[in-house]
Amino acid sequence: MSLIPLTPEHLSGHALIGGQWVGATDGATFNVQNPATGSVIGCVPRMGQADTQAAIDAANAALPAWRGLSAKERHRILMRWHALILEHQEALAELMVAEQGKPLFEARGEVGYGASFVEWFAEEGKRAYGETVPSGSADRRILVLRQAIGVVGAITPWNLPSAMITRKAAPALAAGCTMVLKPAEDTPFSALALARLAQAAGVPDGVLNIITGDPVVIGQTLTSSPIVRKLSFTGSTQVGKLLYRACADTVKKLGLELGGNAPFIVFEDADFDAAVEAALNAKFRHTGQNCVCANRLYVHSALYDRFAQALAEAAGKLVVSNGMDPVAQQGPLINAGALQKVIEHVEDALAKGAKALTGGKRHGTQGHFFEPTVLRDVNPSMRIAHEETFGPVAALQPFENEAEVTAWANDTDYGLGAFVFTQNLGRAMRMAENIESGIVGVNTGIISTEVAPFGGIKQSGLGREGSRHGLDDFLELKYICLAGL
Ligand code: ADP
Repeated sequence: MSLIPLTPEHLSGHALIGGQWVGATDGATFNVQNPATGSVIGCVPRMGQADTQAAIDAANAALPAWRGLSAKERHRILMRWHALILEHQEALAELMVAEQGKPLFEARGEVGYGASFVEWFAEEGKRAYGETVPSGSADRRILVLRQAIGVVGAITPWNLPSAMITRKAAPALAAGCTMVLKPAEDTPFSALALARLAQAAGVPDGVLNIITGDPVVIGQTLTSSPIVRKLSFTGSTQVGKLLYRACADTVKKLGLELGGNAPFIVFEDADFDAAVEAALNAKFRHTGQNCVCANRLYVHSALYDRFAQALAEAAGKLVVSNGMDPVAQQGPLINAGALQKVIEHVEDALAKGAKALTGGKRHGTQGHFFEPTVLRDVNPSMRIAHEETFGPVAALQPFENEAEVTAWANDTDYGLGAFVFTQNLGRAMRMAENIESGIVGVNTGIISTEVAPFGGIKQSGLGREGSRHGLDDFLELKYICLAGL
């Protein structure tokens, strides 16, 4: 089979509603830029209320037939989608680099990770088992069905432009739901490309609709619609809270994957080299723009100086370049606002006494690059100690004991990821249990996998994505009482 073209030129100008590639009703568009160069790579429709409503109606019209297929039939279609994504891995990765900036090897990795959700949920959809419950009376039987929730609205971010689409769309479609999805303005092409492949795989018209445009208007239309029964959002805590409130009037189910402020804790008995390597990975992967990236690094005082030096040396060697450059290890930040935030966090820390062991400033003058940076002598008065920096800056603080570092780790409104390095099994278990977060990596900086539940506690979100639990978010329980038997 010949490959489907997935370049910005092929994808520009249209979004997908009811199986039709269409522009906005008023013809408006907006440009998408390459964050490494600032050049315009293409444009997509600036859709508003009427287009969003059309997409909701299309999803609603497609629902009965899609829900009515057997789980096995949906499985077959999703497995074809999975195969097509992998066949087009290179083109999807290049498209992602062009709009998101991450190095090509990371983009390839993300496409593979995104595809893994499609395969996983294609399988899980076949296992949406119900149950029978022993009844209290002899003439009654109790059955519990797990049924598709209905039309789902989804809003996704720019940091994982491919995996965040499949992590929502695959379980929704596997469960028998239909979807209207709005990707981030910075990275719409990856979503549109995935939708092209879904269409080619046989996903029927209207089952997966992708709309691009004004986030506020699209958000309002999705949240106020009584047809949309669930909203699934990944993005900032600020926008998540706004959407949470907006869903109250129609009492929607909600899945929220919001911000994090991950602690990365290195005890004195840690495997030193493994901890340095993991810190490099957990902090600088995706140029620090991942919600489970280590945001606060606490290192025991016995190791602190040596660890800071070793991490600075390793970070200083990371190659910063356009993601298409084969040697690139660090891409640009997504946009000017993101770069500005990182600059402000670093300037604030330096002004309050932190020292930059490597990096500390913007890299070059073109695009939104920032030098991989390691700061030591960070203290709680600095913004970087409390706010998510979302950039390539490792902020190191020393600690003395387990009780102290546990309290610091938990002193945040967030609770998504956390990392602990120790060779002491008892301590590993105590820390894993006592840290208030949805995910804890012990002796590893890499925790994302489709087979485990991803999600946060506290203000990091609601619900879980991936794993067998990820399907539940798109299913409702229905209790049936058969009486008079
Ligand atoms: P970030 O700060 O990482 O860009 P956002 O929460 O602003 O995170 O963006 C995540 C997604 O939320 C994007 O698709 C964006 O367009 C969308 N978004 C931003 N503001 C709103 C809003 N007011 N209503 C609905 N969606 C929004």
